[in-house]
Amino acid sequence: MNRSKKHGVNPSMLQCTLCGQDYGLALCGRLPGDVEAPRRVAQGVCDECIAHMKTGILIVITPDGQPNQRTGQMLVVTQAGAEKVFTGYDFSKQRGFLLEQSLAKKVGLLPEEDEPGEPNN
Ligand SMILES: [Zn+2]
Repeated sequence: MNRSKKHGVNPSMLQCTLCGQDYGLALCGRLPGDVEAPRRVAQGVCDECIAHMKTGILIVITPDGQPNQRTGQMLVVTQAGAEKVFTGYDFSKQRGFLLEQSLAKKVGLLPEEDEPGEPNN
């Protein structure tokens, strides 16, 4: 790694592409144009998610229309269970994915309930 004169080892936090948590540090060094590395880079998958994907299919819930955000809800379902809900999808290749909250409710993975703060008539 070549150090940057301006930014030193030029670190970036590695952010898990599934659950979104910070899980490591990348030392980027001197980048083209000697630019500062981004504070966070969504790259790779953290150990926790890898562990979940060894036991089943990991589904990380995102708010509707905000794929870069997380609701904090994560589900691990059996491969057979996932194949029942998402027919025609090859879970042997991809064992973790993001799913919008409304879709998770639609397919029955999350309970249908009112959003907090909504009037309940
Ligand atoms: Zn993760």
